[in-house]
Amino acid sequence: MADTILDKPERQRETQTRISVLLPLPFPGPLDYLAPADMVHPGDIVTVPLGRREEIGCVWDTQSAVPADFAPSTEPAIDIKRLRAIRSKQASTPLPQSLRRFIDWLAAYTLTPPGLVLAMAIRAYNAQAPRPHLGWVRGDAALTDLRITPARQRVLDSLGNAPRTTSDLAAAADASPAVIRGLAAAGMLREMPIPVSAPFGTPDPNFRTPHLSDDQESVATELRHAVDARKYSATLLEGVTGSGKTEVYLEAVAECLRQGRQIMVLLPEIALSSQWTDRFARRFGVQPAIWHSDLGGKRRRETWRAVSLGQASVVVGARSALFLPFPDLGLIIVDEEHETAFKQEDGVTYHGRDMAVVRARLANAPVVLVSATPSLESLANVESGRYRHLTLHARHGGAVLPEVALVDMRAHPPERGLFLSPVLTEAIDQTLERKEQAMLFLNRRGYAPLTLCRACGYRMECPNCSAWLVEHRARRLLACHHCGHTEPLPDLCPNCQAEGSLVPIGPGIERILEESRARFPDARILVMASDTLGSPQATAEAVRQISHREVDLIIGTQIVAKGWHFPHLTLVGVVDADLGLGGGDLRAAERTVQLLHQVAGRAGRAEAPGRVLLQSYLGEHPVMQALVSNDYRAFMEQEAAQRRPGFWPPYGRLAALIVSAATPEAADALARTIGEHAPQIPGVQILGPAPAPLAILRGRHRRRLLLRTPRNLAVQPILRHWLAGLRTASQERVDIDIDPVSFL
Ligand code: ADP
Ligand code: ZN
Repeated sequence: MADTILDKPERQRETQTRISVLLPLPFPGPLDYLAPADMVHPGDIVTVPLGRREEIGCVWDTQSAVPADFAPSTEPAIDIKRLRAIRSKQASTPLPQSLRRFIDWLAAYTLTPPGLVLAMAIRAYNAQAPRPHLGWVRGDAALTDLRITPARQRVLDSLGNAPRTTSDLAAAADASPAVIRGLAAAGMLREMPIPVSAPFGTPDPNFRTPHLSDDQESVATELRHAVDARKYSATLLEGVTGSGKTEVYLEAVAECLRQGRQIMVLLPEIALSSQWTDRFARRFGVQPAIWHSDLGGKRRRETWRAVSLGQASVVVGARSALFLPFPDLGLIIVDEEHETAFKQEDGVTYHGRDMAVVRARLANAPVVLVSATPSLESLANVESGRYRHLTLHARHGGAVLPEVALVDMRAHPPERGLFLSPVLTEAIDQTLERKEQAMLFLNRRGYAPLTLCRACGYRMECPNCSAWLVEHRARRLLACHHCGHTEPLPDLCPNCQAEGSLVPIGPGIERILEESRARFPDARILVMASDTLGSPQATAEAVRQISHREVDLIIGTQIVAKGWHFPHLTLVGVVDADLGLGGGDLRAAERTVQLLHQVAGRAGRAEAPGRVLLQSYLGEHPVMQALVSNDYRAFMEQEAAQRRPGFWPPYGRLAALIVSAATPEAADALARTIGEHAPQIPGVQILGPAPAPLAILRGRHRRRLLLRTPRNLAVQPILRHWLAGLRTASQERVDIDIDPVSFL
């Protein structure tokens, strides 16, 4: 598909060659343009005409990595005489080949137009190089014709070796800008660019080297070898919380720095970054570059450039860092690799962890996946020999793992209307008496997940989604956690008009806060939830307060489960350990164990031993048993045994088709049509169509189909073939989610 509008004839058309340019737009592939032979090369960023517009694009390889059945090869090649010429080549370092191949690979794997993947890579690219700031230094003209007034003298006296801006100089000399302009016109001042300070310092691999234990040292040695090999390898680094995984992988980072190469570290959530970057600075003497979607525009451009020039040697960031133009990537680390937050659900859907492995392979660099609770996917890759496995066996410095116990909620129920069992509240009392910290964990924001009319049984539901509205008492409203809809809590039941009949059902953390304030009136309480900790700074401040013992009781959602190091925390209470086990989610049990194991891992990280109490009605459930016995491995073996026979991931492959339309009838009709054209291939199973659990989302009606294949069959060609002839109306959509993580 090429732009066929004729350009004005150009004189040197003969010396021009045909090049491919990928534009950040949803076309099936690159477009053809003309450029002077030898002026542009793959990776160069260029501006090109498109219709009446001008677009920025990237010169693409003609031999791309796109599989043959995906390339839009049916288009006849456009006659070279009809091609338009590129407008200009940007003064920027080219996108490295390994990144271009990654873009092609990810596009083909996720069935996304490659231009939309390129868009993620060049979003931060600024066509306009920042204008250099200019300042004044002494000029070459001799002091002849110009009369030197006192003001002019003061200006001349204020000059130094480094250039000063007009306003700076005027202030220093107590003179007007006109005086400065006069001196400049006479040649007595000269303009010079002010050098910008390098935005990223150089980490020193030997700044403060740790003394590793024998166990740690042998793992570090293995990782250093992987870096020294300068080729692709994948390693799963497993070790209980607090065993020094971070300490050890920073040694691999140090080794890579010694080679002068670049390092990418992916974290599941950027809220985690402040503790991480401080730790990095203690080890290497400077802060690393940070990358995430909330970076300001200026900082984004600076970071992008510094990475592309090799000036930023270490980037820590969210999954979008995968698209940065590292010219010399020597190591990728994925910390907390089991986290589902690595999966991007909007726009281009991809799994950041899996794509990090691909990125490493295409850059021929080692990748290290790190977790205390590895995903079944990574364990299966270890088992099949695709990943190497390194393990740290004990907590560092003799800290012992916390003791985990169940609180049977049937035997020890809370008082009516409350949610904390006396067993748990008494344990908190004792902890606070010892001047240690306690934490209550509940993975549910707001005050109550459901508001019900006592008179007629009506439930407050979102008008746009099939979901209940969550009461947020502090903000005095009901909110939908799926579409963001909010409304005030009504006085009357909207259904039966009864007055004062609406009651909250079940707890969110605001309600646990209310109960805790009443039960522990002297405790200093801090709430940690994604909506109360809006910014990385707020998170950093909360962490500081906890570390400095300015807080006694922490109440939090899943954000507290991340890799925090809270040395004074000795008791963790899980308010509802059963939460998350319901629902038709393939990984519900795995995720619950991982999450609760991580929460438990926050306790007892220093000298005092930690204790974890799980409030549960399902004490016999394998998940609870796994947590109590602290036998993650045994649990994962059971999980594997359950998934293997049915070819569920990781022993088979899944792709989800999400059909959505403006009306339920249209959604049904489209889903049915797709279902009727389902491929008939031995071993391939189609599940559905069925209404999605979130059957209505943001006012759109949704149906789901699931494609399941054995591991040795790729889903992409099947899907392409299946959906090739499909026609959808303007209000209809089919979204494809390869390797789905969410089943809503
Ligand atoms: P993990 O990443 O496995 O949770 P960390 O690397 O965060 O473990 O280590 C836990 C704590 O122990 C941290 O405070 C860390 O600084 C400390 N630690 C681990 N190994 C060492 C070591 N060899 N020397 C000094 N402190 C260590
Ligand atoms: Zn909603």
